[in-house]
Amino acid sequence: MGFWDDFADTTKQVFDYTGNKADELVQKGKLKYRIEKLSYQLRQQQRKLGALVYGLKKAGKENAPLLDECMGQIDALVDQLREARSQYDSVGGSKKIYCPRCGFENADYALYCVSCGQKLQEDEGEKEPQPPEE
Ligand SMILES: [Zn+2]
Repeated sequence: MGFWDDFADTTKQVFDYTGNKADELVQKGKLKYRIEKLSYQLRQQQRKLGALVYGLKKAGKENAPLLDECMGQIDALVDQLREARSQYDSVGGSKKIYCPRCGFENADYALYCVSCGQKLQEDEGEKEPQPPEE
C-alpha cells in the first residue's frame, strides 16, 4: 500500500463519477425525447379522433368500434406518457416553468399552464421531434 495505490483509487473514482454523470445526461435526453415523441403522437391521435367525430357527425353515421379503437390508442399513449414523465422526474430531469400569467408551477414539458391555460412554450405542432444528438 502506498502513494500509487491511493492515486489509482482516486483516479478510478473520478472516472466513475464522470461516467455516471454522462450516463445521467444521456438518460435525461432520451427520456425528454420520449416524452416529446409521445406528446406528438398523442396530439396526432387526438386530432384524428376529432376529425373522425366530425366526419361521422357530418355524414350522419355512427362507428363506435372505430372511435373506441382511436380512444384506446389515446389511453395507451397517456399511460406511456405518464410513465415516461415519472421516470424523467425521478432522474431529476424536470425543471419547473412558472406561468407568467398566474404564477403556477408547471412541469418543463408543459405547453400550456394547467392552471389558467396560458401558452408556456411554442408548440412544435406538425413537426415531429428529432432524437437528441448522441
Ligand atoms: Zn397560469
